[in-house]
Amino acid sequence: MNAYKFAQQVDIVHQRASELNTQAYSSSEAPSPLLQESLEELNTALEELHVAEEELRQQNEELLIARQALEIERKRYQELFDFAPDAYLVTDIEGKIIEANLTAANLFKISPKFLRGKLLINFIPENQRRAFRCKLSQLHNLEQIQDWEIQMQTRERLCFDAAISIATIRDELGNPKEWRWLVRDISLRKHIEQQIRAMQLQNLQLQEAAKLKSHFLAMMSHELRTPMNVILGFSQLLLRPQYNHFSPQARSMVERIINSAKHLLALIEDILDFSKLEAGRLELKLEEFNLAELVTTVTEELHCLAEQKNLTLHIHVQLQDPIVINDINRVRQILINLLSNGIKFTEVGSVTVEVQELTKDIITLSVRDTGIGIAEADLQHIFQEFRQVDQFLTRKHNGTGLGLSIVDKLVRLMNGAITVKSQLGEGSTFCVQLPRVVAN
Ligand code: ADP
Repeated sequence: MNAYKFAQQVDIVHQRASELNTQAYSSSEAPSPLLQESLEELNTALEELHVAEEELRQQNEELLIARQALEIERKRYQELFDFAPDAYLVTDIEGKIIEANLTAANLFKISPKFLRGKLLINFIPENQRRAFRCKLSQLHNLEQIQDWEIQMQTRERLCFDAAISIATIRDELGNPKEWRWLVRDISLRKHIEQQIRAMQLQNLQLQEAAKLKSHFLAMMSHELRTPMNVILGFSQLLLRPQYNHFSPQARSMVERIINSAKHLLALIEDILDFSKLEAGRLELKLEEFNLAELVTTVTEELHCLAEQKNLTLHIHVQLQDPIVINDINRVRQILINLLSNGIKFTEVGSVTVEVQELTKDIITLSVRDTGIGIAEADLQHIFQEFRQVDQFLTRKHNGTGLGLSIVDKLVRLMNGAITVKSQLGEGSTFCVQLPRVVAN
């Protein structure tokens, strides 16, 4: 009986009781004491009934509120269930679908109402069904299966890769009752994984090709160096007074052979150094030496080059302690590269070499020129191998585009760093920071 009916029933009883009361007291004779007592009992019982009725009504209201809250909650869960990103299904132990969310229906491209009652195996391609059944039979002894990767199909038999997790729901006796399925479409992930694998393979092939290239460069330059040295040596010998019976014209030809051979040899040396550095096979020969002396000697050696272009060559060495530990030949190579670039790319003005101590343990070596400068956009490329800013200009100036790349790699090998500041038309400053003591 609901609270409303109960209240109606109480009212009827109440009415009957008050009629009884009226009847009992309206007659001329006073009601007997037994009747009076009974009537009082009845009135008290009626009042208690009223209280009970009130309580019942209150409970009923509370029940209603609780039911409404429950309904809201149920709807919320239904929505969560339906709009979850993964497909959720509940099947009986035969694999017949009892419940499925919207995502499941969308995944299998079938309306939710047709999904219910269907066997899940319908959505497994035929060639996979045996494996599927086998796995299902194992489920009786397992509590759950995680991320089982399998092919599934839509109603129109369009296959897709899926990852399935299954949990067993058991009855009170512990026997499997239902299975809860979470199905995730992983076709996109599989596709990306495949692409990554292809890229990794390509990467390996590229690395292999780069290794081969380095090996080839190293071998070729090594092989070329010996005959070049022979050509250079014998041509220089030809100009010695005891062999020199040449006419001025023939002498000039020999000089040209020498210059070209020197140029080629420098190129070969660059390629050899570069390939060794790239393959990580160049080792520094560390020794203690006087950096101030080295910088002065190298700058003097290049003096004539600057003179040919009417450039002033300044040198400022401010070192409290000029002794460093490094590979003297490689530091010389860095300096020669930066200085000859400074001279090469400057038509008017000067080139300045500065050496200072940044801290007790770090030395900076900078080469500043008043030359053509480098555009901001080109600055990031100049340390890359074979990069030359302006092909037309560099044709005019000669060079391979390997110099700065070698310098950069050498400086890194020494645990140092190189930076460049430049302004088009105003000049450039290359600054190298090196540790005073280079560790092995
Ligand atoms: P290159 O053999 O061409 O000199 P580098 O690696 O030494 O090769 O230099 C790469 C490019 O950087 C040069 O071709 C030039 O365009 C630019 N560059 C290097 N040093 C300077 C400089 N001091 N002033 C202007 N441009 C420079």
